[in-house]
Amino acid sequence: MKPLDIAIAGCGVAGLACAALLRQQGARVVVYDRLETPRPLGSGIILQPVGLHVLDAIGAGAAIRDLGAPIERLYGLSGERVVLDVRYKARGRRAPCGLGVHRGALFQVLYDAALAGGAEIAGGRDIVAAHDGRLEFAGGARSARFDLVIDALGVRSPLSRLPQAPLPFGALWASLDWAGKFDPAALEQRYVAARKMAGVLPIGRLKGEGRQQAAFFWSLKHVDRQAWSAAPLDAWKDEVRSLWPATEPLLKQIRSHDDLVFASYAHRTMREPVSRHCAHVGDSWHCASPQLGQGANMALLDAFALARALETQSNLDAALGEYARMRLWHIRLYQAASWMFTPAYQSDSATIAWLRDFIVAPLSRVPLAPALLAALVAGEIGAPLGAIGSVTS
Ligand SMILES: Cc1cc2nc3c(=O)[nH]c(=O)nc-3n(C[C@H](O)[C@H](O)[C@H](O)COP(=O)(O)OP(=O)(O)OC[C@H]3O[C@@H](n4cnc5c(N)ncnc54)[C@H](O)[C@@H]3O)c2cc1C
Repeated sequence: MKPLDIAIAGCGVAGLACAALLRQQGARVVVYDRLETPRPLGSGIILQPVGLHVLDAIGAGAAIRDLGAPIERLYGLSGERVVLDVRYKARGRRAPCGLGVHRGALFQVLYDAALAGGAEIAGGRDIVAAHDGRLEFAGGARSARFDLVIDALGVRSPLSRLPQAPLPFGALWASLDWAGKFDPAALEQRYVAARKMAGVLPIGRLKGEGRQQAAFFWSLKHVDRQAWSAAPLDAWKDEVRSLWPATEPLLKQIRSHDDLVFASYAHRTMREPVSRHCAHVGDSWHCASPQLGQGANMALLDAFALARALETQSNLDAALGEYARMRLWHIRLYQAASWMFTPAYQSDSATIAWLRDFIVAPLSRVPLAPALLAALVAGEIGAPLGAIGSVTS
């Protein structure tokens, strides 16, 4: 194919990864975002080995490893009982681990890679629709015509028009200075059944800063959000302390309700990720709760697959079909797994929590189960890199 003119709608993880990869292939790329100066929202995430593989292909792997915190283990206690214990090394002594990162750090390395590659970034454009290779902006203006529009507008994309009902539970998040006695190489969580959950994730540091940070999160239902905001902060802190006293040095850093951001989650998958002149990537195609820690990694894999398909196929229609084929099974598998696992960590069901603690947790220790669970968390079930034609050594 001749070099394509591509509009990327959305300057998030998926959009920036597409921009960096497609510029490497010689496409002309313009990234549009509603924010005047695009920036990340939210706290920390875990980059899984599959996502790190894509960042290596972009040329941003070393930069993000320098900023992030290696994660070797996911560990959760319900009372005294260990109900979550996944070790990445269960896949093999040399198997790669996860990386806890500040969203700002991930955004920065992707933004730097896209800009260094020569992508054009156009901020302050609120996209409302796309027709026939053109984007339509709020106020009625339209973009020039492109060979392809990539919809990377995230969970509320007006281009994918997925129904908008959020999951009943979301979470309060904060990025805090690393403090206290936590495992610096683990995501740690504490639960009361599945109705309460607190978590601490090491997320390394932001570019240009020395201080190491932790993402702290607290599960909260949408319907309880107003009551939480209206109640004194100290009452909530007492509740967290009684579940997990070690969080005290983190709680001290939270001085008002505004220091915590509420994130809502949704679970949806768009049936067809491609249409004429348009491909959907990342959350605009599929979104899930973050319990399996896959969303950003899925977005990176989508970008990698789309770039690979455009590079190897002889025309645009064939490339879009190939892109959907490369990603379909992995996405179906992980959307199903996320659907199954989410209520075990965020729901009012005492039965599901009991099954998690007394059936699933013991089963997860029988031979082969630890390696399988580690592969699930690492994003490797369904061999997504093999489907894209790129295998790890
Ligand atoms: C609290 C929380 C924790 C998470 N933890 C993890 C984790 O541990 N691991 C993991 O892999 N994933 C995690 N995820 C999921 C992950 O963050 C998302 O899957 C990922 O950010 C999706 O990337 P995206 O590029 O598709 O969308 P986004 O990153 O949301 O980017 C969308 C972009 O589009 C822009 N935009 C949106 N609408 C418009 C419009 N109308 N016009 C113009 N611009 C627009 C936005 O400004 C933004 O820049 C978590 C998510 C949440 C909420």
